[in-house]
Amino acid sequence: MSEKNVKQEYDAIVIGSGISGGWAAKELAEKGLKTLVLERGKDVKHLKDYPTTNLMPWELQHAGELNFKEKQNNSILSRCYNYKEDSKHFFAGDKDHPYEQLKPFDWIRGDQVGGKSLLWARHTQRWSDFDFEGPARDGYAVDWPLRYKDIAHWYSHVERFAGVSGNRDGLDSLPDGDFLPPMELNCVEKYFKKQVAEKYKNRHVIIGRCAHITEARPIYAQQGRVTCQYRDLCRRGCPFGGYFSSNASTLPWAERTGNLTLMPDSIVHSVIYDDKAGKATGVRVINAKTNAVTEYTAKIIFVNASAMATNQILLNSVSSRFPQGLGNDNGLLGKFIAFHNFRGKISARYNGLPGYTTEGRRPGSAYMPRFRNVYKQETGFLRGYAVSLAGRGANDLTANCGDALKNDLARKDYDAWTMDAGMMEETIPKATNTVSLNSQQKDQWGIPLLQFNVDYDQNDERMLKDFFEQVSEMFENAGFTNIKTRDTQQAPGLDIHEMGGVRMGNDPQTSLLNKWNQFHNCKNVFVTDGACMTSTGTQNPSLTYMALTARAVDYAVNELKKQNL
Ligand SMILES: Cc1cc2nc3c(=O)[nH]c(=O)nc-3n(C[C@H](O)[C@H](O)[C@H](O)COP(=O)(O)OP(=O)(O)OC[C@H]3O[C@@H](n4cnc5c(N)ncnc54)[C@H](O)[C@@H]3O)c2cc1C
Ligand code: SF4
Repeated sequence: MSEKNVKQEYDAIVIGSGISGGWAAKELAEKGLKTLVLERGKDVKHLKDYPTTNLMPWELQHAGELNFKEKQNNSILSRCYNYKEDSKHFFAGDKDHPYEQLKPFDWIRGDQVGGKSLLWARHTQRWSDFDFEGPARDGYAVDWPLRYKDIAHWYSHVERFAGVSGNRDGLDSLPDGDFLPPMELNCVEKYFKKQVAEKYKNRHVIIGRCAHITEARPIYAQQGRVTCQYRDLCRRGCPFGGYFSSNASTLPWAERTGNLTLMPDSIVHSVIYDDKAGKATGVRVINAKTNAVTEYTAKIIFVNASAMATNQILLNSVSSRFPQGLGNDNGLLGKFIAFHNFRGKISARYNGLPGYTTEGRRPGSAYMPRFRNVYKQETGFLRGYAVSLAGRGANDLTANCGDALKNDLARKDYDAWTMDAGMMEETIPKATNTVSLNSQQKDQWGIPLLQFNVDYDQNDERMLKDFFEQVSEMFENAGFTNIKTRDTQQAPGLDIHEMGGVRMGNDPQTSLLNKWNQFHNCKNVFVTDGACMTSTGTQNPSLTYMALTARAVDYAVNELKKQNL
């Protein structure tokens, strides 16, 4: 690191401007705190910085596909389905962001203002108490220090502002939210839903809840956002603000309060802990372009760099009080990493419904909430999996050019309906699944590389088998044919739902954060991204990060007022 600049003072610092950091910024700035958001990547302004948003496929040099060299240079990234010619500028390239894989791990990052909120698939399902009570019931990890009743209000708070569409399905395992009108299942999905409902108790096919505006309301107009036009080109950035991103929603909202300072190209090296004060006083930041080092001070700090990057920053935040990383008295920082397992895929064909077709596009998909081990333990594995479902109509082409298009055109089942199912499995957090710092190797800014030691286990293998059996059986019973199962054998991480390392819990001996996402032993630092997750559930996780963030900010600001921090 080079020369250190003078300190600059704020009420609050937020590290990271992605989904959770954007929420921290909005809530803090709205509550009147002078808030500094530090973002390691470039600035991305809503509308102005979406260079491909209005391009037609033929206006893209490779019709949306990546060329061989780009794939070769980004062998990790190019495994991500959303890394395409029209969205590549929103991903962090492999070479610029090195890390070490003691075991294979695909770490997919969107390092820019807005983070991965520009890239996500926007599925937003609430957790239920079947998820929060999971570790205590099944005897793994530690008990969550909160329950659904503690977060329900904050889910609503987020849903109303972000805009979440969904149907009120009345399911125990997937609580309903403050929804905008749902998107519609297509005819083959409706058919499958009916078949499943007739043949299985407690298995439900629903339209996935997703963060798209499907009804005009004043709160969205105030944000400058209008209803989704169903273009399904969301990964390019949406000119309508039709889906929720930090760029379209929380960050400009925070900016309007006059309390926000957003600083792109600012890599947080570590959190500074002051032994005398007995708390964190600020952060050390490296300018990504000049390498200049600046220290910023604040009364409270929110760490929202995304789960694994948050672990890296905290492990690197060493002081005489915390020689193993911030708050890490019990040695658990970086341990109990967990993720969702997306390895299982199934496709099937349905010959019925002739004469029906799909109309236009739909940017969300159908969803089947977890049905295994919900009310009681009933299988040889712990927990379960949700299923994402997409029925594809006759005459739908998925590829634009090249071999993929040729194969698509040559499909023998071109006239039939098909349905794809994907597994979203809860993995069990284990002490042996870890991230740590490599003391020898550093990146171009002198920050120790994060090393991943994360793997699947026998529970995951058993669940994969069960997913293949159960979903194939449901397809068969519904009259589908040509059912094909596929284990992608992908490394952990590619599901992009990585969590843990700084888990919440009641006991400081076995957890890092309390029920308010606050370090047990460093009260003015809060972690509200995926790093805080005690277990993973089967739901897409970002809605829970947003709700936890808004809840923690509310607590932190109240504590600040009482001069407890
Ligand atoms: C293709 C894809 C599809 C997805 N689909 C879904 C979905 O349907 N539903 C769902 O719930 N989730 C989905 N996700 C996951 C979702 O994007 C993440 O859970 C979410 O973005 C996490 O929010 P975050 O704030 O923790 O991190 P991010 O949104 O990644 O933001 C973190 C920010 O911190 C910055 N940062 C990192 N390190 C530093 C540092 N040292 N200093 C300063 N800044 C730093 C990063 O540059 C980044 O901008 C998907 C992700 C992808 C890529
Ligand atoms: S589908 Fe909706 S949110 Fe996505 S790009 Fe189109 S208009 Fe925007």
